[in-house]
Amino acid sequence: MERRAMMAGNWKMNKTISEAINLAVRLKYACNSVDDRDVVLCPPYPSLKPVAETVSDSPIEVGAQNMHYESSGAFTGEISPPMVKDTGAGWVILGHSERRQYFGEEEKILARKLSAAVEHGLKVFLCVGESEAQREAGEVDSVLSRQLTGALGEFEFDQFEDIVIAYEPIWAIGTGNTASPEQANEAHQIVRKNIAEIFSPEAAEKIRVVYGGSVKPHNVEELMAQPDIDGALVGGASLQAEDFTAIVKYDLEDRSSIPGI
Ligand code: PEP
Repeated sequence: MERRAMMAGNWKMNKTISEAINLAVRLKYACNSVDDRDVVLCPPYPSLKPVAETVSDSPIEVGAQNMHYESSGAFTGEISPPMVKDTGAGWVILGHSERRQYFGEEEKILARKLSAAVEHGLKVFLCVGESEAQREAGEVDSVLSRQLTGALGEFEFDQFEDIVIAYEPIWAIGTGNTASPEQANEAHQIVRKNIAEIFSPEAAEKIRVVYGGSVKPHNVEELMAQPDIDGALVGGASLQAEDFTAIVKYDLEDRSSIPGI
């Protein structure tokens, strides 16, 4: 099955509003002609609406990096699904390893967040991935199985407007240590095997699985050449218009063209 490529940028806790708009403007012009793949920008909360407005007349979509599962209430510092939607964002990243590591986000909470995303029609990037110690202990399979089943086990596949699984080995995030294309593809096959068990073989064939972990302009092409890799969730390299454009346009001739703005 032909799956549409997905290239997403997770800006994490970077960029003021004016910097975010500037980057979004540059990406909008650089990626405007690209219509055979999805491009999603995930800025920090304050920039969601300005970035969504900036790219509203382009095919680029916008996503939040996290959200609470409740719609409103006494949850100081949190942002609700209706608030995310209200900014114009259509996507949300859930379960990023930094959320798991620093904010105690685990499967039970993730399942509630997924449920809220379903209820409010938000499309989801669900991040999964093992630590270096878990990989060395031969636990990749069991970790991915626990993370996927724990978060998705109570759902039907057709409840989701769109769900993308982001395989992000923790040891490759922000470290410059990319998984080899073969290692990444093997993990993506494990993800699909789990999706087949949780939902169905059809869902496993249909679902997009993207790779995240030090994706850069120089390694994206070989990663994308793997049959089970459908795209990339990019951290560091998504903060530079030139680098992210080269990643989005990894297989196109004009991959380095950025209009001067
Ligand atoms: C990420 O945090 O989702 C990520 C993949 O970061 P980086 O590309 O910087 O490794």
